[in-house]
Amino acid sequence: SPRARTPGAADLPIRDDLRGRDPYGAPQIDVPVRLNTNENPHPPSPRLVRALADAVERAAGSLNRYPDRDAVELRKDLADYLGHGVTADQVWAANGSNEIIQQILQVFGGPGRTALGFEPSYSMHPTIARVSGTEWINADRDADFGIDPQGAIGAIHRHRPDVIFLTSPNNPTGTALPLAVVQEILAVAPGMVVVDEAYAEFRRQGTPSALSLLPGNPRLIVTRTMSKAFAMAGTRLGYLAADPAVLEALLLVRLPYHLSTVTQVVARTAIAHREELLAAVGAIREERDALVGWLRGEGFAVADSDANFVLFGRFGDRGRVWRGLLDKGVLVREVGPPEWLRVTVGLPEEMAVFRTALAEVMGAEV
Ligand code: PMP
Repeated sequence: SPRARTPGAADLPIRDDLRGRDPYGAPQIDVPVRLNTNENPHPPSPRLVRALADAVERAAGSLNRYPDRDAVELRKDLADYLGHGVTADQVWAANGSNEIIQQILQVFGGPGRTALGFEPSYSMHPTIARVSGTEWINADRDADFGIDPQGAIGAIHRHRPDVIFLTSPNNPTGTALPLAVVQEILAVAPGMVVVDEAYAEFRRQGTPSALSLLPGNPRLIVTRTMSKAFAMAGTRLGYLAADPAVLEALLLVRLPYHLSTVTQVVARTAIAHREELLAAVGAIREERDALVGWLRGEGFAVADSDANFVLFGRFGDRGRVWRGLLDKGVLVREVGPPEWLRVTVGLPEEMAVFRTALAEVMGAEV
């Protein structure tokens, strides 16, 4: 007898514009070498684990109360960390920079409005845009994944987007954007310009942060996260720096008490230990540069990387290579243009396993 089909989301009266859409789904597979979500491979030290536990214990006694709705102390700490003259009234925090992006689009995007980005880039920008009812417009990057200012200006004049996303260093390509290009785009943007700097701390020398452009640019928003260099992906803490008027606008959409007391104290403790947490960044950068050199030496195409990951190719069938690596216990990411794969920079021993596995998979290919 025919089996009754199990009802799914499609049977529910969901919004028409969400029908047929795929949820975010980077595979969470338990393998020995996980190089697929751009995390920092270093877990907190025993000393930091102790400090985090003590901070949570101290906060636990007040968990009957709502958290500080405006996360005032945390924002002071984040401003202090950012430098560039940024003050607490220019800093806002939320549960990951994904929530920051969502709040930005809820305020400045929405039905009847558009957001423009340069693909390939971070897939959640268009996804969050669409979920917020904002129409997404894709503008292209050039062959080496940079943004050509003239092309960008043309696209901005054509589409008059309410929000522009620039990601620097860009995910999944790793490419950083020269400040001059950000400035040219700021000069013609009719709305808000968001520079997503999730990977800022991994940049090579000489690629400055867009934070230095905040004075005099009240429509610029720079977003950051503690998920990458800060090695705190599990904490879910993202933040932004912008003109205080932007923060005032964001208060219109943030949920009351969105940032838990536990999140706030854990983030503050991590910032207090930032020297230790960020100490690994230098080593990750060196490991990245060595990886780029090795891949190029092996004949792969490799995008210049200012991040903690590397985009490499080009593969006729990247799915086969991805699967071959997985069979050897190495998880990388099938993301970005179809002939490329992205690998996160892990510990030196993990990268050694990756190199051996890749060489074997490619040897088996021929
Ligand atoms: N922006 C970029 C460019 C990213 O790659 C990521 C994470 N992959 C994020 C934002 C979101 O990070 P989180 O929500 O953990 O801060």
